Amino acid sequence: MLTRVKSAVTNFMGGVMAGGSNGEHPGAGGGGGGGGSDLPLKYPYGRAEFLGLSPDEVECSADHIARPILIPKETRRLPWSTGYAEVINAGKSTLNEDQACCEVLVVKRRPAGSCAYNQTATARRRSSLPNGEGSGQRDDADCSENLTFHYWALFDGHAGSGAAVVAARLLHHHVAMHLQEVMEVFCGPDAAPPTCLGEEPVNHHLAPTSQRALTRAASLRGAAGAPGSPGAPPARFFSEKKVSRESLVVGAIENAFKDMDAQIEKDKAVYNVSGGCTALVALCLLGKLYVGNAGDSRAVIIRAGEVLPMSAEFTPESERQRLQFLAYMQPHLLGNEFTHLEFPRRVQRKEVGKRMLYRDFTMSGWAYKTIEDDDLKFPLIYGEGKKARVLATIGVTRGLGDHNLKVHDSNIYIKPFLSCCPEVKVYPLAQCEHGADDVLVLGTDGLWDVLSNQEVAEAVTGFLANCDTDDPHRYTMAAQDLVMRARGVLKDRGWRISNDRLGSGDDISVYIIPLVHGNKQN
Ligand code: MG
Repeated sequence: MLTRVKSAVTNFMGGVMAGGSNGEHPGAGGGGGGGGSDLPLKYPYGRAEFLGLSPDEVECSADHIARPILIPKETRRLPWSTGYAEVINAGKSTLNEDQACCEVLVVKRRPAGSCAYNQTATARRRSSLPNGEGSGQRDDADCSENLTFHYWALFDGHAGSGAAVVAARLLHHHVAMHLQEVMEVFCGPDAAPPTCLGEEPVNHHLAPTSQRALTRAASLRGAAGAPGSPGAPPARFFSEKKVSRESLVVGAIENAFKDMDAQIEKDKAVYNVSGGCTALVALCLLGKLYVGNAGDSRAVIIRAGEVLPMSAEFTPESERQRLQFLAYMQPHLLGNEFTHLEFPRRVQRKEVGKRMLYRDFTMSGWAYKTIEDDDLKFPLIYGEGKKARVLATIGVTRGLGDHNLKVHDSNIYIKPFLSCCPEVKVYPLAQCEHGADDVLVLGTDGLWDVLSNQEVAEAVTGFLANCDTDDPHRYTMAAQDLVMRARGVLKDRGWRISNDRLGSGDDISVYIIPLVHGNKQN
């Protein structure tokens, strides 16, 4: 076991080891990047649709020597003049395993009492998915009220690009379907009109029915007597959790991630959907910005030169206690080969019976314990920083896919330790004043591995200050500049950035989203 793990650890290049027992090798094969599968690809490998690349250009973009920085063509301008740029890795995988998607979507309210309303939630969700995903025709033609939202997403694949390609194609449809389920709250006939600042609570559990039910429920309560009035039952009888509109959007994003993950698992039975991916999405809806993150990509708002983090990375180190708790509760997941405890270094046999520092899921600090035979097992979490791994295999702890991923040469599955649930942060866009240089930056870890938040803020602010504020290309040029700063230049057979530091050898993808356009929209 130890030899097996050692060899796996030394072979790490990216977020996952090169070559797993599941036959999913990073970059192996064509198309979706799957290796060793006879199943067809669900979607062919490609670059983001908004880049507008021809097949030849897609091929040229995969030049690991020149590493050309790609930006959208003039005719493919993104909403809000969003800037975008990307570059392929320096050779760690054949294909660029980052994927991007940017869409403006309209969610239509279903007429109350329509047949579609009687379908199961799953059937309704499937009905809007493209390319044969649907179970039937959409029946929202009579809807009179729409909800528009803007959507930007980055997916960073590992062990193949298949999961990232599928998520880039479909996650926004899952988000739209879940938002449709709560449309009554936003646009129902008896609901308050959508408001940019609205924080009034709603009755979440009544959302699937007509909003009129809310009115009926309220009048029934009135008939029974208001709490506290003479003859009224105790107030706790009426206890009801109030749910804000904002939290309904958060819930829609969270469930969309879960559905996307479940769909990837299901699709694997009939398609070659290789590997897994991190997912970072930003939504603008009703005057608020929602950023959902599962993985180690990052979102920051740069406002007046100041940095406001909009995501937190999920890594073996940041999620140590969650992972250790799961392993403690379900030790069979460790296959009798790993220990859930963490030690400052590998325990050696000669140290059995001696004392060593350790920590478990209950601890953020360290304490001493007497070493036992069981402590000689390989740690569930091992390594530091970017080299930290779960089960000696994967460097991110949240994301989509990876259902077949196992510890090298074993039957120990990694998936139980990975969560597809995003953390969603909300920014009150419409309540804040923004200048033309205030932006939301979304980047995959290829950017953040070599540039700090502050360096990115200084680079973007400095670049935009030298651009005409009316130039619609300024954000694209700023994204291009940022990718250039993270990739660096080829010098002495290595990529170098400022101060002769090593440049990023990973795939790098960056959005620069101007917030002032969000104010205009709402
Ligand atoms: Mg990456």
